[in-house]
Parts: sequence; structure tokens; C-alpha cells
Amino acid sequence: MFNTVRMVLVETSHPGNIGAAARAMKVMGLQRLYLVNPQLFPHAEATARASGADDVLAGATVCASLDEALVGCGLVVGASARLRRLSIPQWDPRQCAERMVEGIAAASGEAAIVFGREHSGLTNDELGRCHQLVHVPSNPDYSSLNLAAAVQVIAYELRMASGASAVETVGGGEQETLATADDMARFYQHLQQTLEDIGFLDPENPRIMMQRLRRLFNRARPNEVEMNILRGILTAAQKQRFGASRSTRR
Ligand code: SAH
Repeated sequence: MFNTVRMVLVETSHPGNIGAAARAMKVMGLQRLYLVNPQLFPHAEATARASGADDVLAGATVCASLDEALVGCGLVVGASARLRRLSIPQWDPRQCAERMVEGIAAASGEAAIVFGREHSGLTNDELGRCHQLVHVPSNPDYSSLNLAAAVQVIAYELRMASGASAVETVGGGEQETLATADDMARFYQHLQQTLEDIGFLDPENPRIMMQRLRRLFNRARPNEVEMNILRGILTAAQKQRFGASRSTRR
């Protein structure tokens, strides 16, 4: 579990928070830190706040987009300080950790927990990439933890859960392989294109429908075989519409 869960921080403004998050991870035994467009990194303030966890900082992967940070992940969990209108299934940190450790999460190898910006959290587009949300129960009138504090609570629960049950289920033989975040991203592109091709989706305004469809398919957690079936259906629909030449399988 410790090698298969990555913490992804999206567009963090304060380098001190990056350092404090690295420290929070290391004390709980986690190492894999991904930074999507950090405003200031590397930075002396990050190193100072990391204290002895500068190895986690030095090993951090800096990415230009969230999609890049999620490549290879079979489970993506978004950490959210508030409830959203288009609700995605939600765990508290304990449920989140237990489910991840049980290996449901790790069936296809890796899992990510995504943390938002200090001022504005995660966008709806970013939440659309998440299978689940994790929310630290808190005062409804003041529910937002400091970024590194949120990392700490969730990492702590992961550690507790990992001690309580068999951890290493990754690659456990007969388990089905879930579609990864990058498979899902390609599928959503293909789905949107096909729905436009057959006149179901208004190309000027695809947002709400695509968000709802993402929510549906993220909930279903398709495996690789199911993903191939879905992609085959889309290709067949495109062939019907345009003939063999125009169908696109990306
Ligand atoms: N003002 C922002 C809060 C950002 S706090 C907002 O309203 O969304 C920075 C990040 O810390 C959040 O995006 C989230 O990933 C994490 N976080 C803060 N409080 C949290 C909570 N109660 N539960 C889960 N994650 C939380």
C-alpha cells in the first residue's frame, strides 16, 4: 500500500504547504508525492517545512496536468472540504483507508488521492476525474482544513488501516484489472466524439451531460474487458454513422 498510493497536490500556492505535506506523508510511511503545476517549487520554504522529509520532496514528480499525475491509477479519490451539487460517492478518511487497503482500490496497481488549491479546492472538471470523494468530517460552518493537515489525517488513516489487515493485494493473481485513469480519459474523449457524431450531444455545450456521464461510468468502475466492450460499441456507432473510414478509435 505504501508504494502504491500517491498523494497528488494540485496547483499549491504556498511552498510551505508542500513541505508540510511531505512531512505528513513521511511520518506515516508514504513517499509518493505528485505536484501538478505548483506555484513555487522547489523552494526554501518547502524544504524548511519538510524538516527531515526532504527525500520525499526530492523524489516528488512535478506534472503539467492532473491527467499526467493520474496515469496508471485504477482508483482516484478527491479530497474535498465541501459537498458538491453533483455529488460523487463520498467516504470519510477511515472508510477511504480501509477500502484502499483491502485492495479494492489497488486492483489495478495504483491509487491516487488528489488535494485541491488552498483558496479554491478542486474544480468540477478535476472532481470529474475522481471515482470517490473523501471528506474529513468537520464543523459545517468551518470545514476547511489546512492542506497539509488534510494530507496528515488521510495518511494517518491509511497507516492505521494498513496495520489492521493484509495489505499487499496488488498483483494478486486472479483479481480483475480495472481500467486506469488514462484509459478512462481516452474513453471519455471517444464517448464525447461519438455522441457528437450521432447528434446526441450539442458540441457547443457538452459540459453538464459529460459530467453526468463521467459520474455514471466512474461509479461503475469498469475493468479492462468492459472498457474494450464500451470502446467497441462507440466504434460501431461511428461506423454506422460515417462508414468504416470515419470511425475513430483513439
Ligand atoms: N477553500 C477551499 C478549501 C481548500 S483547502 C474550498 O472551499 O474547497 C485545500 C485542500 O485541502 C482541499 O482542496 C482538500 O483537498 C483538502 N481539504 C481541506 N479540508 C478538507 C476536509 N474537511 N476534508 C477533505 N479534504 C480537505
